[in-house]
Amino acid sequence: MKRVYNFGAGPAMLPTSVMEQARDEMLDWNGMGISVVEISHRSKEFEALLTETDELIREVSGLPDNFEILYMHGSAQMQFAAVPFNLLGLNPAHKAAYVETGNFAQLARKEASRFGNITIAASSEASNFDHIPELDVSALDPDTSYVHLTSNNTIFGTRWNQFPDTGNIPLVADMTSELLSRKLNFDQFGLIFAGLQKNLGPSGMAVVLVRKDLIGHALPQTPSLLNYATFEKNHSMPNTINTFAIYIMNLMLKWLKAQGGLPAFEQLNAQKAKLLYDVIDSHDFYIGSAQKAHRSHMNVTFNLKDSALDKKFLDEALARDLYALKGHRLVGGIRASIYNAMPLEGCQTLADFMKEFAQQNG
Ligand SMILES: *Cc1c(COP(=O)(O)O)cnc(C)c1O
Repeated sequence: MKRVYNFGAGPAMLPTSVMEQARDEMLDWNGMGISVVEISHRSKEFEALLTETDELIREVSGLPDNFEILYMHGSAQMQFAAVPFNLLGLNPAHKAAYVETGNFAQLARKEASRFGNITIAASSEASNFDHIPELDVSALDPDTSYVHLTSNNTIFGTRWNQFPDTGNIPLVADMTSELLSRKLNFDQFGLIFAGLQKNLGPSGMAVVLVRKDLIGHALPQTPSLLNYATFEKNHSMPNTINTFAIYIMNLMLKWLKAQGGLPAFEQLNAQKAKLLYDVIDSHDFYIGSAQKAHRSHMNVTFNLKDSALDKKFLDEALARDLYALKGHRLVGGIRASIYNAMPLEGCQTLADFMKEFAQQNG
């Protein structure tokens, strides 16, 4: 059997130990002689797994009791609709402000624009999203229902190091590509959502961490399966939940905890990213795409000075089992996605390859 270092942006690599456990338990989960994908989501065993998953999220992240945990279908982009449906009604003006820091931020803003009065509060589009723009909080209308931002920009390789203080206006963050990779102060947020497929498990579902007082204000036309209140009332199971995704996330959370939790991963992720940025910064051969002060710890994006060498770079990387390093089609170049499951050795191997490739082709 061969396992490559998978630098793909998502669905992304999962820890081998998690995959092995899932394999070993595939036919006989929980000593029941049945697979977790065959069991009723209403069974007491699955209910227990879901409750344990809630507890693990709280324990690992430090999520306070005034937040609800919801598991919803449709991954991150379904939340681009769910958020305005549920939160625009917080104020009769139905206004929201979006910070544009990349493609997903734009998609979120465009979707919300179908339901309310949406403004762009700040944008870095003019410089091809190479940094996080300043958000002038004092310029926000007090009747704004929420402010939306994308905490880590998966395609452009930037992240918010600090989050803005939006006062009484709830701050909503799409954290799909970094949730549980760094410590957070939840007091700063009204709602955080993330598709599972980058740091948390398989694709197809989102986890939504929402302040309880923000639930129950959905617009009247909100579909029941996009309404946070429906999910809160039914422990995220108004209909059949993706049992397999919850199971894998449960294993991921246990793995995360056993490896030292967020303090350990925050440090490890910084160290992993630094290995790659150091090579970029010490070789003219490479050009980092994000401004240094705003660099992501999850998605390291760069170009070769001579883009004609991109294919050779990717082919030779693959020959060393460094997989899926091609940049997103919107920006080209190279992207190394290094979520929690990417070990330090994976980044070291890539850093060594990058040095060698620069020497041989520079
Ligand atoms: C990957 C990603 C998405 C993707 O949305 P899906 O609906 O899960 O495919 C959205 N937002 C961010 C920030 C992402 O990184």
